[in-house]
Amino acid sequence: MLDAIVIGGGPAGLSAATWLSRYRRAVLVLDSGQTRNRWVDDAHGYLGTDPLHPDDFLGRARRQLDGYPETRIRSAEVVAARRHDDGAFAVEVEAETLLARRLVLAVGVEDVFPEVENFFEHYGASVFHCPTCDGYEAKGRDVVAFGWSANITGFALTLLGWAKSVTVVTDGRRFEGDDEDRRQLNGQGVAILEDEAVELLGERGHLVGVRLGREGVVDCELAFFSIAHQHRTALAEQLGCALTEEGSIQVDLEGATTVPGVYAAGDVTPGLQLVQVAAAKGTIAGVACAQSLQGKKRAMTDTENQPEDEASAAEAEPAGERVDALDADIERVRQRVDDSIDQGGPRFIDSGEEDPVDDMIVPPG
Ligand SMILES: Cc1cc2nc3c(=O)[nH]c(=O)nc-3n(C[C@H](O)[C@H](O)[C@H](O)COP(=O)(O)OP(=O)(O)OC[C@H]3O[C@@H](n4cnc5c(N)ncnc54)[C@H](O)[C@@H]3O)c2cc1C
Repeated sequence: MLDAIVIGGGPAGLSAATWLSRYRRAVLVLDSGQTRNRWVDDAHGYLGTDPLHPDDFLGRARRQLDGYPETRIRSAEVVAARRHDDGAFAVEVEAETLLARRLVLAVGVEDVFPEVENFFEHYGASVFHCPTCDGYEAKGRDVVAFGWSANITGFALTLLGWAKSVTVVTDGRRFEGDDEDRRQLNGQGVAILEDEAVELLGERGHLVGVRLGREGVVDCELAFFSIAHQHRTALAEQLGCALTEEGSIQVDLEGATTVPGVYAAGDVTPGLQLVQVAAAKGTIAGVACAQSLQGKKRAMTDTENQPEDEASAAEAEPAGERVDALDADIERVRQRVDDSIDQGGPRFIDSGEEDPVDDMIVPPG
């Protein structure tokens, strides 16, 4: 029985695992390696590391996690998850069942891509889906925006905040916006081409245009698309977690889902979808998850269960007894603090009651 299994090893999952590890919890990260931005050369906007290369970034995070003896990372896809009556969780991977007291779902989303020849040659270098992430790279450039729903209006107008020109290509479909959408786009000089996008032209890092079915080539240096993305919620649904209207996993301010013991973080939860936000949500869920285990005996890791030699094994206090003693100490301290608060003694936090300040401990100086 592990303390926690983190499903997903992107920024959210590795961040949650880091904080669980810092609480000395036995954690296993299970990751199928399909991080959302695995295609990109550079990700932007991460404070202090801008730009970052996703592989370097996650590689560094994994190596740092290796420094925590309580933590393991395994390449594997979780195919099923369920909650037992006693509150523990069973997770199925590669014909094996793993057990944990807590789960963190950090499984991300899947993007829907346009079907254009050479798409993946350019995806992540000159083709993107998120103006917030990569709009800055469009400054002063000619840009194509793929999409046909009414949403493409706002998307294209947003891109004009950076781009020299924006052309909407609907990939042969009828533009679903109304007259007002057309008026806004035309008013800003955005052409709508209801033509098929056949091929992206140029080398990786040097997109030169999009070849259309009928209307020749649209010159551009960058392309963006706005089609759809799907939250990976299959496991959350098996566990009975509630979803939001937009299809992400519903969580509270601490990353807790509606199923006790299951936490979620990153793009699969509501809100901005950025690396730094995913890592921050992972931190929140990881800390909350770890704190929910406080007072519960820690699961032993392999190293803790294997003393170095026979002699030290004989001398060593059994790990389980050490943990029992530690838990008892923690419980005694907690009880003393509770008693002191009940008796009107010192408080560390403003409890909202009248006149709490007099009771607070004032730091020296
Ligand atoms: C083209 C592109 C450019 C981007 N550029 C930027 C940028 O410049 N700046 C920025 O901040 N953000 C950028 N992003 C967004 C960023 O990639 C995401 O916000 C971030 O990756 C979300 O992290 P996450 O941990 O929630 O999910 P992910 O990084 O997607 O990781 C989820 C992980 O869970 C694993 N997983 C899923 N299901 C299972 C399962 N059943 N079992 C085991 N493992 C599973 C997946 O394989 C994956 O490894 C970009 C995204 C894209 C697509």
